[in-house]
Amino acid sequence: MIRAYHQPKGIDEALSLLKNGAQAVAGATGLYSNRKKLDGELVDITGLGLDGIEVTKGEIRLGACVTLTKLLEADLPGNEGAFLKLVARHITAHTMRNAITLGGNIAHTVFWADMPVALLALDAKLVIARAGEAEKTVAIADALQGAAPWKGGLIVKIIVPIVQGRTFGYERLSKTKNDYAFVTAAASMKLTDGKAKDVRVVLGAIQPKPFRASDIEAALEGKAVDADALAGAAKSALDLPIAPNFRASADYRRDVTSALVRRAVAQAAGQE
Ligand SMILES: Cc1cc2nc3c(=O)[nH]c(=O)nc-3n(C[C@H](O)[C@H](O)[C@H](O)COP(=O)(O)OP(=O)(O)OC[C@H]3O[C@@H](n4cnc5c(N)ncnc54)[C@H](O)[C@@H]3O)c2cc1C
Repeated sequence: MIRAYHQPKGIDEALSLLKNGAQAVAGATGLYSNRKKLDGELVDITGLGLDGIEVTKGEIRLGACVTLTKLLEADLPGNEGAFLKLVARHITAHTMRNAITLGGNIAHTVFWADMPVALLALDAKLVIARAGEAEKTVAIADALQGAAPWKGGLIVKIIVPIVQGRTFGYERLSKTKNDYAFVTAAASMKLTDGKAKDVRVVLGAIQPKPFRASDIEAALEGKAVDADALAGAAKSALDLPIAPNFRASADYRRDVTSALVRRAVAQAAGQE
């Protein structure tokens, strides 16, 4: 039951309501899905000016209330901008993308969420605000570990570094285009003299939280991404831990994971 619905005029008012136990509402798509469990006060954060997009020479700074549609319509630079749009386009249907916000997609922390996978591949940072404290910037990798640092406060901004020459791949499989993913795989790297550097391979939807496949990354690091390297990545992906899931058997999802890792890495290496 919703006991009160607050529309604060400023961020300080919102933060003090959140500190006292109220829950933030942005696009409301996740909250609506969990509506039967709702019991408390809601704080609408969509009127706080958290929907700006700023581009500096080295960063894309996205307000937490930027919707997926706004992201898709924005003029974003570099391969990072194109990658964010590629991922946003994969998330459910147009009408839902009008509502879903970046902050909500991260904070909702469901295993199928696409943006946390992409943000790990991008090495993004989150800016977290809480009542009475200075804003904190936390690497997404740390934010996704353990207790969510935004609890009792807010994600206010997502910072994506722009790295010259970084390339990306993204693959996911779902039953229909609008459905949640069985498996998502993202890859990023810098190709220098034909060799892969700073490789990231991130998997989503096979464990409760997205994670980096460090063995696959290490095997690719400093090597040419040729047919053998791709076959090796696909083979190692068969050893990744797959959590039980009502959507498909572990064996099926293991095979899918292997194929998607190969394709995401090949895409990042400019081969697909
Ligand atoms: C049918 C359907 C299909 C979907 N398919 C996909 C999919 O394939 N891939 C995918 O990635 N997503 C998908 N989604 C979206 C996803 O499951 C969540 O519903 C969505 O990401 C939540 O975003 P929101 O802005 O609506 O957040 P809300 O519903 O408003 O909030 C969700 C949670 O996040 C918290 N929160 C929101 N904003 C902030 C903030 N700035 N700081 C701190 N906490 C915050 C809220 O308090 C709440 O706990 C789908 C949703 C639906 C309903």
